[in-house]
Amino acid sequence: MRKVFLSVAALALIFTSCENSGNEAEEQGLSSENQEIVISKDQCGTMGVLGEKLEQNPELASRMNAVELHTKEAIKNKLTSRLASDGTIEIPVVFHVIYRTESENISDSQLQSQIDALNEDFNLNNPARNTIPDEFASVESNVGVRFTLEQVIRVYSNKRQWRPDDSMKFTSSGGSDVVNPQEFLNIWVVNNMPYRGGNILGYAQFPGGDWSTDGVVLDHRFTGDTQYSTGRTGTHEVGHWLNLRHIWGDGGCGATDYVDDTPDADGPSRGCPVYPTVSCNSNNMTMNFMDYSDDECLNMFTEGQKERMMAVFTSGGFRETMAQ
Ligand SMILES: [Zn+2]
Repeated sequence: MRKVFLSVAALALIFTSCENSGNEAEEQGLSSENQEIVISKDQCGTMGVLGEKLEQNPELASRMNAVELHTKEAIKNKLTSRLASDGTIEIPVVFHVIYRTESENISDSQLQSQIDALNEDFNLNNPARNTIPDEFASVESNVGVRFTLEQVIRVYSNKRQWRPDDSMKFTSSGGSDVVNPQEFLNIWVVNNMPYRGGNILGYAQFPGGDWSTDGVVLDHRFTGDTQYSTGRTGTHEVGHWLNLRHIWGDGGCGATDYVDDTPDADGPSRGCPVYPTVSCNSNNMTMNFMDYSDDECLNMFTEGQKERMMAVFTSGGFRETMAQ
């Protein structure tokens, strides 16, 4: 997911974080001109944000449970394979670029490179897929979803950083309002998001959340091709947006990602692991887009993950309108 390494400053932050309350990055007010990016241990903010939302809004749990129930039924009744054989689903993408400086106002070609990465990864064209070990190659899937660049909205804001609290998704709080979320994937690109002792690279909202905040948020340095990224943060977050969980199930051995063909793992992978790495008595699928490995070492979704994603497009699914 990330190509950056922890800098010396980041390591110092980790070693001191036991003594401090852990909001150093926020206090420092890191600017995007600062090339040393302190990455949060949870580089994807999706689960942290979900936890906060569930506390604020207990009713969200029942909506997400309904999505889960529908997912199980759709897979059991083979609606997902029928949908996949109907042809490719096309998803128009609306980017909201919220910038303070010119370097944060990223170009159309950088945005297009994010679309290109999504199309590679969801259509069996990841440039490094030939490195997938035999053990996992048999479950590699062609998800068959295509993404197109629909619209780019650019909004100036004098904010130096954003909390992952969805404020960037509203014009009234200095961001940009969602555009037709039942038809379009909305991606907000912001300058930086300090959260829990470092910067997160992005976060997504799962199916079942409010339409007004539906979509994905990315740090501009991890959107498409950049010095830090080849666009796989976007692939990972769109995976969440299509209802995928982290491959380690956000717990230790035994925690589930609700997918059968991804091996059990005791936590996220980092960097670019050399196969095989082992946890919970099986080899880790470190190259799965829903892990935390570096961009160039992420290159597959599984058939089980595809079924889960397809379920949201089936009749009665949360994203049913997008498959029409
Ligand atoms: Zn994630």
